[in-house]
Amino acid sequence: MIGAIIGDFCGSIYERRSVRWDRKTPLGAGPCRLTDDSILTFATAEAILNGDVQPEAFARAYMRWARDYPGRGYGHGFSTWVEAGQLTKNGSFGNGSAMRASPIGWAAGQLDQALDLARASADYTHGHPEGVKGAQAIAGSVFLLRSGMTNDELKSWLHSSFGYDLSRSVRQIAASGYRFDSTCQGSVPEAITCFLEAGSFEDAIKKAFLLNGDVDTQADMAGALAQVRFGVPFGLRTMAERAMDARMRSILSAFESRFVKA
Ligand SMILES: [Mg+2]
Repeated sequence: MIGAIIGDFCGSIYERRSVRWDRKTPLGAGPCRLTDDSILTFATAEAILNGDVQPEAFARAYMRWARDYPGRGYGHGFSTWVEAGQLTKNGSFGNGSAMRASPIGWAAGQLDQALDLARASADYTHGHPEGVKGAQAIAGSVFLLRSGMTNDELKSWLHSSFGYDLSRSVRQIAASGYRFDSTCQGSVPEAITCFLEAGSFEDAIKKAFLLNGDVDTQADMAGALAQVRFGVPFGLRTMAERAMDARMRSILSAFESRFVKA
């Protein structure tokens, strides 16, 4: 969870894509902020902590947090849904379903539970099969990495479960003219590749910057997975926590003390 938030925080200055990472600027430097990725990750964690993980409860949590924290870069379809204020179902395949799913992988006791909760979390806002797959891929990967799965095993699970092609390297993806793509199917496999190639938490985030696609969201997803393998650096955690208000800190602290044992 905190790995995703740190990824979003560090990637936020490249969110508008007018500025590219120069390969030198340290992570967290500049006017970083918590964007939609983090806000809705808190919402997922809150729904889990409240103990109601039905699709309606996740949907209500997303609506509540988006309304309480407006102007954080929410996707167009999601914003329209929030403004309408009705629990109607949207068949989106945007990567919003995946960017907020990491707490599920920490809370789940079994893989099937992680996949079921991920489906429930995506149901109202990202009901398209690709939207559901994106949420399941991130939540399931977090769960499986916690269980000690190797990268090769994870790759083959992602390929057989979701059809994700993880055969290309970050360098190959970037060289192929990869661009901003906020769909699950066009950004989740690439973000996972950033984690798979990384030798450290920071490395995973920097690889997501190098792709120069949907930077904050791909850094969020790579960071979510990298947290499980590497943990998160104290300095980056401190920077992200400074950007949180009391409500966010209390959700993070309650969630970590219950589900993320150090
Ligand atoms: Mg964002």
